[in-house]
Amino acid sequence: MLNTQSRTAYGQDHDVFRDQVRKFLDREIIPHADRWEEAGIVDRDVWFRAGQAGLLCPTVPEAYGGLGLDFGYNAVIDEEIAYQGTTLGFSLQSDIVADYLVAYGSEEQKLHWLPRLVSGETVTAIAMTEPGAGSDLQGIKTTARRDGNHYVIKGSKTYITNGQTAELIIVVAKTDPALGAKGTSLILVESDREGFARGRNLDKIGQNSADTSELFFDDVRVPITNCLGEENRGFIYLMSQLPQERLSIAVGAQAATQRAFDEVVKFTKDRRAFGKTVFDFQNTRFTLADLAAKIQVGWAHLDWCLTRHFKGELTAAEGSAAKLWHTELQWEVVDAALQLHGGAGYMNEYPIARMWRDARVQRIYGGTSEIMKEVISRSI
Ligand SMILES: Cc1cc2nc3c(=O)[nH]c(=O)nc-3n(C[C@H](O)[C@H](O)[C@H](O)COP(=O)(O)OP(=O)(O)OC[C@H]3O[C@@H](n4cnc5c(N)ncnc54)[C@H](O)[C@@H]3O)c2cc1C
Repeated sequence: MLNTQSRTAYGQDHDVFRDQVRKFLDREIIPHADRWEEAGIVDRDVWFRAGQAGLLCPTVPEAYGGLGLDFGYNAVIDEEIAYQGTTLGFSLQSDIVADYLVAYGSEEQKLHWLPRLVSGETVTAIAMTEPGAGSDLQGIKTTARRDGNHYVIKGSKTYITNGQTAELIIVVAKTDPALGAKGTSLILVESDREGFARGRNLDKIGQNSADTSELFFDDVRVPITNCLGEENRGFIYLMSQLPQERLSIAVGAQAATQRAFDEVVKFTKDRRAFGKTVFDFQNTRFTLADLAAKIQVGWAHLDWCLTRHFKGELTAAEGSAAKLWHTELQWEVVDAALQLHGGAGYMNEYPIARMWRDARVQRIYGGTSEIMKEVISRSI
């Protein structure tokens, strides 16, 4: 269990909520985690149950069916899910998509969609990446051409989390390709629109229960009222939301790091070689001491970031630094933890094997570590 006694970002209400989240995970997630991992997707109805339990989009204002809480509640959910060592697409909906709708949605869009996101009736995705453009989002080719009161969307997206089930997708498209990034808009596309098709559920090396898909848009017509915020301001919106998106990944990374550490401590104190426990070797103790020191710093740093974010002060560079540092630490710790398991670490029956596979992509999605360094360096 995560020790939260010395955390400074949270209050008592967060702790009470954390307890509810743990109970929910014990009851509704953990018993199914292996099956979902095998299936490459979670059961659709877990979204409804998470919604009922208040685990989806806690920051959505009460006027739109939410609880109107601070981002700390999202972070509590992210930490607990990551510490359990499972992967779900909840954070994408709660920490990313909901905030786009709250920040840029019209009153009609908010009233229609937000209660559905909160209840789990609607699963969402955000589709930025394309086969030819990921880090370099300015290079996307998907277009949304105006035709009277409609947009006609053409293009394809890939690596889209929740892509197999999403009923609502925020599609990043060029509404004025001649203007480059300044001609980019965010368009809401419902999955029952003609011309929309889902590709296969992509075969990944980890995070299998969080489905990832290709999506195709073949002259999909949506009314111009489906534009999120103002036309051609999509790139600015994307940039504005980055600190929270990256912090969300950092939160999960730190909690998953702690879990890997706790697992390896348990394992090495139990496993014996050369007449003593593996923990007793100086190499093991020094490795673990080094990691423990970094993890301690990690928690302090995470609370600093969360506190700044609650006040609206976390900058894009700070959010990127958090994503960079916490995901790199996660990789360092899971890899060292696997090594200290010996052959057992390579066996899927030990939790560390899955943690190691799941960790790898943390340094890639949401902006690669290299892109994080680019962003940070621009602020220096
Ligand atoms: C499991 C998973 C889930 C995902 N979910 C989503 C999602 O829900 N929605 C979505 O839109 N996308 C999603 N993505 C896509 C993800 O955000 C991109 O894969 C990521 O941003 C990297 O883009 P790319 O794959 O095109 O790599 P590329 O941009 O082709 O990068 C290849 C390599 O070049 C490096 N590189 C690129 N540019 C630079 C530079 N300027 N300086 C130095 N090095 C550079 C990169 O760091 C990387 O090492 C997901 C990806 C995965 C794997």
